Amino acid sequence: MNFKAAMFDFDGTLTEKGHHSPSKEIADALVNLSQKMPIGFCTGRQLESFERRALSKLLEHVSDEERPRFMENLYLFSENGAIGYDFNPAIKDFEEIYRIEWPSEFIDREKLRTILNEEVKEYGEILYNAHKIVVVMGTKFYYEDKPAIDKVYELADKIYDVVLGVLKKINPDYLKYVHVGNSGIGVIISPANGDKDEAVEQFGKFLSENRGMKFDSKYSEILTAGDSAQVGGNDFYFLSGRFGTPYSVGEILPDNPKLQSVKDENGKRILHSKGTLKLIQTLL
Ligand SMILES: [Mg+2]
Repeated sequence: MNFKAAMFDFDGTLTEKGHHSPSKEIADALVNLSQKMPIGFCTGRQLESFERRALSKLLEHVSDEERPRFMENLYLFSENGAIGYDFNPAIKDFEEIYRIEWPSEFIDREKLRTILNEEVKEYGEILYNAHKIVVVMGTKFYYEDKPAIDKVYELADKIYDVVLGVLKKINPDYLKYVHVGNSGIGVIISPANGDKDEAVEQFGKFLSENRGMKFDSKYSEILTAGDSAQVGGNDFYFLSGRFGTPYSVGEILPDNPKLQSVKDENGKRILHSKGTLKLIQTLL
């Protein structure tokens, strides 16, 4: 495949499992890739968290010479794909490309947050910090610097089960309105029409309309990479293959003929940021 753009999940894909920031190797590889093609980060995080924890780290590795192209080719799809941004170098800030609204006909967002905060309290809490569209729950360990990552994943699984129970009670047909994604470090409820697969389509459309790039109808020339492609994972829709050409660097590789993995010379799968690094190297 002749890839023309690439999209990456952030946590567990560009970072190692349990780490907040990408390694220098990954940062360098992304900067090199940005000199060749547009890059979209597609994450459950919201804009401010992405800027603080991800972008600031990447910028440390960008030389003055590389900077203009890096900025020109930088896109962010935050809140699990519900909002897309283009970085505008002229104002040195992100500008919204699109925004999918919360489905209030399902349930008022604030009301849902109040209910869930109570229901999940044994395992975690609602994160009230600045998500604009989606509803997000972090585990009890969210604010700890270096929590035991397996414990975090365990609690995220518990929160996920509680959330499904609550949503089913509100409306057994809840999937018409919202998607639930477990990123391993938290759980995100997003509008059903504003998941990460929507982000792939929006990215392709934007590049076609604004940068004169040409894609097939599935945007197959956009590579997508993530680590939570399993049912219930927050890359399930991102890596479904509805749009883009998907690669998984997660431990669980769901049975989807469209989904590819990254392997070493012995045929062993390479996971998380090491797998992503290898994938990026094939694009350079
Ligand atoms: Mg992830």
